[in-house]
Amino acid sequence: MTTRPPRQEFLVFGSPLIGDEEIEEVVATMRSGWLGTGPKVKQFEEAFAEYKGIDPACVAAVNSCTAALHVSLIAAGIQAGDEVITTPLTFCATVNAIIHAGATPVLADIDPVTLNLDPTAVRAKISPRTRAIVPVHFAGRPCEMPALMALAELHNLTIIEDCAHAIETEYAGKKAGTFGAFGCFSFYVTKNVVTGEGGMVVTRDLAAAGRVRTLALHGMDRDAWTRFSDSGYKHYYVVECGFKYNMMDLQAAIGLHQLAKIEAHWQRRRVIWERYQTAFANLPAQLPAVTAPNTRHGLHLYTVLLDPTAPLSRDEFLAEMTRHRIGVGVHYLCLAEHPYYQERFGWRPEDYPHATAAGRCTVSLPLGPKLLDADIEDVISCVSLLLAR
Ligand SMILES: *Cc1c(COP(=O)(O)O)cnc(C)c1O
Repeated sequence: MTTRPPRQEFLVFGSPLIGDEEIEEVVATMRSGWLGTGPKVKQFEEAFAEYKGIDPACVAAVNSCTAALHVSLIAAGIQAGDEVITTPLTFCATVNAIIHAGATPVLADIDPVTLNLDPTAVRAKISPRTRAIVPVHFAGRPCEMPALMALAELHNLTIIEDCAHAIETEYAGKKAGTFGAFGCFSFYVTKNVVTGEGGMVVTRDLAAAGRVRTLALHGMDRDAWTRFSDSGYKHYYVVECGFKYNMMDLQAAIGLHQLAKIEAHWQRRRVIWERYQTAFANLPAQLPAVTAPNTRHGLHLYTVLLDPTAPLSRDEFLAEMTRHRIGVGVHYLCLAEHPYYQERFGWRPEDYPHATAAGRCTVSLPLGPKLLDADIEDVISCVSLLLAR
């Protein structure tokens, strides 16, 4: 069916680009004898804070973005009976963290063009119980932060940004994660900066950062590195019931080198992104919207929405791409499609028509710095062939 020879190797969707630097740093960490939370994590926090242009005392590394969201919600004072508004077009972790914090997630529909939370839909969902908004910068495109900030201010709500896709994202020169009271980042294997598993919380002040650190390590007032360092044993005291969410030096060792390459990797993704935009311009699919002026797109996911006139269904397209040995993704089925949330909250797909429609026709194509030019050609020729009318 293809005009090109079939691929030998399966193109793994979201496979990270790991260099010798990362490998050597991990080995050196193992040889150092300090594997857990220690000097490398501190170094990684400092490097991340420098990238974001904030005080290193205001960031806290954790072991996932899910953990980052969970402790941020608690540190924001969210509790049972509170409502937290978020998008239906996100990974399940966004709402699971809200549920784990004891609150009730409330979905507001997306804008069908940007695929981000629609501030007008958010406004319609604000109730006397609403305490927070969790915007997700979908695919790396910044949400309409001025409108969301204005709503938050008017109704006295906390904003906790889910920046899992958005490390490089900016809106009007301001970096994602620095708008809300908390910004939560992911370093999962498929994300733009990788530590295997890992996350980061960015806070506005020292007190919030301190609370996050305590919550992320059993509720202890002091971490192991301080306790067991050569300055002498110090007792810790448990000041609340926390969680086991700390990042390891082994993970930070990877992240340090990933972070150093963040701009080079973004530039490479931008080249791929532009090639796709040009190559797919006339296919029966809605391509990612043009990046809004005065913003920086994180370019995390390249998602296309197949038109109803496309020659094959979305699921057939996924199967055909896989058969042609190209890994693809779906980001995401509308959260209201999942049985757990339907049963617990009575969510129905038809109540979120834009997210539901997007979730039923979206496909994410490979977009990563590891892709070779030949891989990109394979993706382009395969997609073009499948979708040609
Ligand atoms: C990946 C992801 C998360 C969860 O990140 P982990 O680090 O895997 O916990 C949360 N929200 C969104 C939007 C994500 O894509």
